[in-house]
Amino acid sequence: MPMSLIADNLASVKQRMAEAARKVGRDPQNVRLVVVTKTVPVERITEAGAIGGCVFGENKVQEARDKIETLGTESYHWHFIGHLQRNKVKYIPGLFELIHSVDNSELAEEIHRHSMKHDLVTPVLIQVNVSGETSKSGVAPDDLEELLEMMVSLNGISVRGLMTIPPFDPDPEKSRKHFGALRRLRDRMQKVNIENIAMDELSMGMSNDFEVAIEEGATWVRVGTAIFGGRDAH
Ligand SMILES: *Cc1c(COP(=O)(O)O)cnc(C)c1O
Repeated sequence: MPMSLIADNLASVKQRMAEAARKVGRDPQNVRLVVVTKTVPVERITEAGAIGGCVFGENKVQEARDKIETLGTESYHWHFIGHLQRNKVKYIPGLFELIHSVDNSELAEEIHRHSMKHDLVTPVLIQVNVSGETSKSGVAPDDLEELLEMMVSLNGISVRGLMTIPPFDPDPEKSRKHFGALRRLRDRMQKVNIENIAMDELSMGMSNDFEVAIEEGATWVRVGTAIFGGRDAH
């Protein structure tokens, strides 16, 4: 794909995001974009980055480390959006501004421990399996409160909100109930008001359904294919 096309795609995604926000009376500034760069080589990423202080989302620690080493963390912002293996956590303090995918207490403790070693606090979202699909990562909605209570004592992490990946359906309207369920769960946890746990962020919506996610309250959407085109199997 020619580079100018990537820039055009990025501009178009941002435009569609703003329209979706306005449609439901939300301020477009409250919906931010994670440009999903997994499998995309550095040369193509920089083209997208040039058009405005982008946040990039990666789902493999080693691939992310290589890219961050090349591009740095000053002009670019990095989020981790994939399944995080515990033995890779030692690499992550200081690399990512937000981890979208914490879904169990062992992983949370490991992130806490390694962050404390570096005198850092790592912001995280809790990934929730709202659809109940067995193949999906994420804590079950019924177990969320217990996980959050356990995380209160972990000073090396700061919980900012929730994330979900609904089952893929070519019809984005099919995702709406899952996005709504995550928002209601977030609202409920806000009322429970657990000490040191913020519930401001909702990471939901990908290329196929980000507009519906924004209508349902997303504060972060994670978009790859609509910007860079299809990925090869990875
Ligand atoms: C790959 C990925 C995305 C982006 O998906 P697209 O359909 O390419 O926009 C979003 N979130 C997560 C967690 C991903 O792994």
